[in-house]
Amino acid sequence: DLCLKKAKQTSELNAFVTITATEAENHGIESEKRLYVEKNIKSLEGISIGIKDNFCTKNINTTCASNMLKNFVPTYDATVYSRLRQAGACLIGKCNMDEFAMGSGTIDSIFGPTKNPWCYKKEDGDWRIAGGSSGGSAVAVSTGACLAALGSDTGGSTRNPAALCGVVGFKPTYGLVSRYGLIPLVNSMDVPGILARTVGDVVTVLNCLAGPDEMDSTTIKRQFNPVIMKEISLPKIKIGIPKEYHCEGMSKEVLDTWQYVADLLENEKAVIKSVSLPHTSISIAVYSVLNQCEVASNMARYDGLEYGLRTEEDHSTEELYASSRSQGFNDVVRCRIFAGNYFLLSRNYEKYFIKALKLRRLISDDFKNVFEGEDSVDLLLTPTTLIDAPLYKDFVSKHNRDQCALQDYCTQPANMAGIPAVSIPIRLSKNGLPLSLQLMGPYLSEDLLLNVARKIE
Ligand code: GLN
Repeated sequence: DLCLKKAKQTSELNAFVTITATEAENHGIESEKRLYVEKNIKSLEGISIGIKDNFCTKNINTTCASNMLKNFVPTYDATVYSRLRQAGACLIGKCNMDEFAMGSGTIDSIFGPTKNPWCYKKEDGDWRIAGGSSGGSAVAVSTGACLAALGSDTGGSTRNPAALCGVVGFKPTYGLVSRYGLIPLVNSMDVPGILARTVGDVVTVLNCLAGPDEMDSTTIKRQFNPVIMKEISLPKIKIGIPKEYHCEGMSKEVLDTWQYVADLLENEKAVIKSVSLPHTSISIAVYSVLNQCEVASNMARYDGLEYGLRTEEDHSTEELYASSRSQGFNDVVRCRIFAGNYFLLSRNYEKYFIKALKLRRLISDDFKNVFEGEDSVDLLLTPTTLIDAPLYKDFVSKHNRDQCALQDYCTQPANMAGIPAVSIPIRLSKNGLPLSLQLMGPYLSEDLLLNVARKIE
């Protein structure tokens, strides 16, 4: 009941597209209850969970915050939702997002933007963005409307809003958690993400979700060994600080926080060393090309015929496609489809798409080299975002719109490589807003990654 009350009290933040829980169902949920129960790691009994509105939920609207799917009611559940229900969780509602998960602010939703609860005053028009694209999920956790929430993470969409809203945001290894029922953005990079208030809570949810799924052929076939929270000895851990992540536009406060945590870890006798991921600076451009190509292909299914928006246009099938798609998608989505189709033209295919795939391999190999090569490290420590949560009016300015991709500078390389990463809130900026750092680890290093993250939180 408390969670539902909180969801209703904070409705002006616009975290939810649909609230599904009712008082009757929700009884007995304590908002301060922690999820982590050592002896019963599978149980989410009675725990309130939010789910981003791009996961299919049977008989419950799944809109992707778009006109195209505004009235779409799936006939099946995403695997992650079925597994949460099997573990006893209770869905409080579907969370707001950027349309089709394209964005870093949760500002481009047909239901309006989601507002950051930090420093939010009702009468003040100068509110901060929640980050995105899983901003609704981050706000729902941060306000206590749910104990954990699912987001999706293609280039940082779980970690970015978690960082700006002061909660933990985790992106698993690609293929560890099923994508079945997650409406695709970039199939080769998408993963379901978990947002919660503590690393322990993330682990409890992960242990319910992870593992092979016959409905998603890209899931890792090996059986998943649950992550166990334990005391780890920092003196054995080597943590790399990649020098290329000191990028232009990163605030002094973020840099200081990074140094502060590196010093703390060093004081605890962890080995901290500078490492190089030389292809980091091209990662944003490569990500954009691959993203747009996969978007162009994925969005082709929305033709106004099978499902989704269908306009009244009846002159010809072509015109029906065109009018349904132009009314169904916002500018961001249409621009990406347009750019992706350009990169995929037969005369451009080698020059852009194939080239981007080759460069993606180099970015991925950078991680392999630091984790496996001579002088290797166990984990990497970086900031999650370049600054604390921007004001909405600054974020939507023309200049920032053009720079939008930069928001993902620190987060999207992990998606290119398929490795796990977690954003952990550290302290407050002088604006009174959360500042967070990111830990990344090698493929399937969830156990170490999350145990070290717990030391830092
Ligand atoms: N901001 C990135 C994009 O717009 C990442 C989105 C995501 O991770 N879903 O593509």
